[in-house]
Amino acid sequence: MKLWVKILIGFVLGAIVGLIVGPSIAAIKPLGDLFIRLIKMLIVPMVFCSLVVGASSIGDLKKLGRVGGKTLVYFLVTTAIAITLAILLSLVFDPSAGYVVGEVGTYTPKPMPSIVDTFLNMVPTNPISAAATDNILQLIVFALFMGIAISLLGEKGKPALAFFDSVAEIMYRITAMVMGFAPIGVFALIAWVTGTSGSAVLLPLAKLIFVVYLANILHAIVVYSGAVYIWAKISPITFFRGFFEAMAVAFSSCSSSATLPISMRCAQDNLGVSKEISSFVQPLGATINMDGTAIYQGVCAIFIARVYGIPLGLPQYLMIILTATMASIGTAGVPGAGMIMLGMVLQTVGLPLDGIMLVAGIDRILDMIRTCMNVTGDAAGAIVIAASEGELATAKPARGRGAAVAR
Ligand code: ASP
Repeated sequence: MKLWVKILIGFVLGAIVGLIVGPSIAAIKPLGDLFIRLIKMLIVPMVFCSLVVGASSIGDLKKLGRVGGKTLVYFLVTTAIAITLAILLSLVFDPSAGYVVGEVGTYTPKPMPSIVDTFLNMVPTNPISAAATDNILQLIVFALFMGIAISLLGEKGKPALAFFDSVAEIMYRITAMVMGFAPIGVFALIAWVTGTSGSAVLLPLAKLIFVVYLANILHAIVVYSGAVYIWAKISPITFFRGFFEAMAVAFSSCSSSATLPISMRCAQDNLGVSKEISSFVQPLGATINMDGTAIYQGVCAIFIARVYGIPLGLPQYLMIILTATMASIGTAGVPGAGMIMLGMVLQTVGLPLDGIMLVAGIDRILDMIRTCMNVTGDAAGAIVIAASEGELATAKPARGRGAAVAR
């Protein structure tokens, strides 16, 4: 049986078993946590080594700049479309209609770093501590320098290149081993969510959940399918099937960063994206490109405004588009981060911060779909950029590593 089929079975069985058993299913969550830890163990060495190799083979700075520029444009445009769609669907379905506000707690936002600090913080003062604290952006910056310097050095850089290349391959191999455990890990995580989220929390907000899911799914079907079809002639079915393993891991782990090793492996092995493009676009995307998060922030901002009876006009909607785009860029790829950044959107648009407490109870449910779309958007981006650079091997169905990609 193919791995993605096993994962799908784990997923469906997990949902059913969780619903039947109820909260005591939390006892099996450690199995899911074990799975996530196993993947997380690979992130730093894999991202770092494959990006060093990627950057050194892209070599010429002009090309690196061009790829970087295209990637950022793709990220920004798709995120802005995502949130516009979120606003339109919120206006059509109005999830706040009939919603009765109960007890609202108080919410204290975290202070936001300034734009200057954000850029400064991308440069590590110590690459080892960047690696030790999972700071992917800093790791990307250092890896880019390493890769460029290696290619400029020529002969002298070759031993280091061979080393990083070999470590990257080892990490991909371990990823394949860890994925063997995915059906059980996904089963445990999904069972935990369905077993512990009671209908008392879910039902009053069912319409909000529906709109967030609908916006995410439509965005994927229209924008991602459209982009990979137009640029790479990859059919939506091939795309979603090839990327399914990563989507399932993202959905159950709620972390783009933790899903990275799987997303990169799926994009390279199943969808034919070159290692150079995948190792640049996907780690960057996992930290700054979050369409699912932007959708969630848009829908929640409008929901909160309406529940509190605050009228919104065109300037406020534009403000939501702008701030949710910025907030999604600043959101870390870890569970629940998007909710903290929702505070920034609310504050900038002038909406009550305590509104966050209205949606906090269902955050895990919303986090699942937004993380899933966050990583899917990165993969679609990697395909589009690879195709535009002539670095996309013909996509083939999932097989062993290296079988599909002829570089
Ligand atoms: N959990 C999301 C992710 O890792 C971020 C968020 O909370 O929106 O992509």
